[in-house]
Amino acid sequence: MANSRLTYRRRMPYNTVSNKVRIIKTPGGSLRYLHLKKKGTAPKCGDCGSKLAGIPALRPREYSQISRPKKTVQRAYGGSRCANCVKDRVVRAFLIEEQKIVKKVMKEQEKKQKGGR
Ligand SMILES: [Zn+2]
Repeated sequence: MANSRLTYRRRMPYNTVSNKVRIIKTPGGSLRYLHLKKKGTAPKCGDCGSKLAGIPALRPREYSQISRPKKTVQRAYGGSRCANCVKDRVVRAFLIEEQKIVKKVMKEQEKKQKGGR
């Protein structure tokens, strides 16, 4: 049976996030550690904290290397807020504006009634 004890191939002896490895079999048939790159985290919605759909989870450097359409969504607040939160914002803004109009109309009607008498 082959010896399954492996050694790190870099001068960093601790099992940290930045020192993750995977066991691979080389073409020569021996096992060895393959050093892995750090995993990226998915961007999250600023309101509800859920992961944003349609945007890959990458490391910061990788984001700087991909084009804009790959890290955003073509929508208001795309790439920053999720679709449901944007929907809520639109509805809320609409209702507030409607309320303002209703108030205005009510005020005008009151004025008319007073002036008519
Ligand atoms: Zn959200």
